[in-house]
Amino acid sequence: MNVRGIIFDFGFTLFSFENPSVEKYFDCFNRGMSKSIKVLKQEKIIEDNDQILEDFMTIFNKKRATYFKLAMKTKEEFPTTLLFKTALAMLKEKGYEIQEEKIKEKFLEKLAELYHSCEEEEWKPDDMTRFTLETLSKISNLKIGLISNHPNHKTIKNMLKNNKMKEFFDAIVTSAKFGKRKPISDIFFHTLKRMGLTKNDAEYCIMVGDEAADIIGANRIGMQIILKEREYEFPYEKEINIPNLIRIKSIDEVLQYLN
Ligand SMILES: [Mg+2]
Repeated sequence: MNVRGIIFDFGFTLFSFENPSVEKYFDCFNRGMSKSIKVLKQEKIIEDNDQILEDFMTIFNKKRATYFKLAMKTKEEFPTTLLFKTALAMLKEKGYEIQEEKIKEKFLEKLAELYHSCEEEEWKPDDMTRFTLETLSKISNLKIGLISNHPNHKTIKNMLKNNKMKEFFDAIVTSAKFGKRKPISDIFFHTLKRMGLTKNDAEYCIMVGDEAADIIGANRIGMQIILKEREYEFPYEKEINIPNLIRIKSIDEVLQYLN
């Protein structure tokens, strides 16, 4: 098969979170939250008062859980910028004074970036990721894309940039920016388009991912699929029932499917 494009998932496909656990994941967000709150206080958007901060955290965490559940159900993405905006508006509704005029889009982006900043330290490219991307980028007429279900676009971009890998991609798409999550077909079509391809090229393209959302979504639109097996099992993992599914353990194994 003459492959025209290859799309990678980010988490546990190209990059891995070191020693993952639910506790570590939440600890990471708590550390990020402290940084975001520090800025909210510095900018005098909220008062430095224990009760307000406690209420803000409660509202934020509740809303985060609601958005998360809704995102799982509807496949719509609720970006972290929206989460901060909504939580601050709800805090105001509770009767607290919030300096709303200071909350501009750029500021929300900063809060979200800080909130996710700990992830930037924890996600590391797999040993063979650079070699694989480098090799693929030398193949003429092959487009390389990335789709990540992540609520903050900047975080994914920062991680690729910090590891000097951004330049390998013809398109970097996140659910945060697109508004919908994998396995929705639209996000795959949108990515193909951004890579300079069309819907008709789908069958000549490969999707590489570690989750049902990657594999089932890409399979549905007729793409070739490769499952990157992950050692760490997610809570509530969805099963993939696709016959003859190609499974790889190391990312460089994709290279043998391109000749
Ligand atoms: Mg993944």
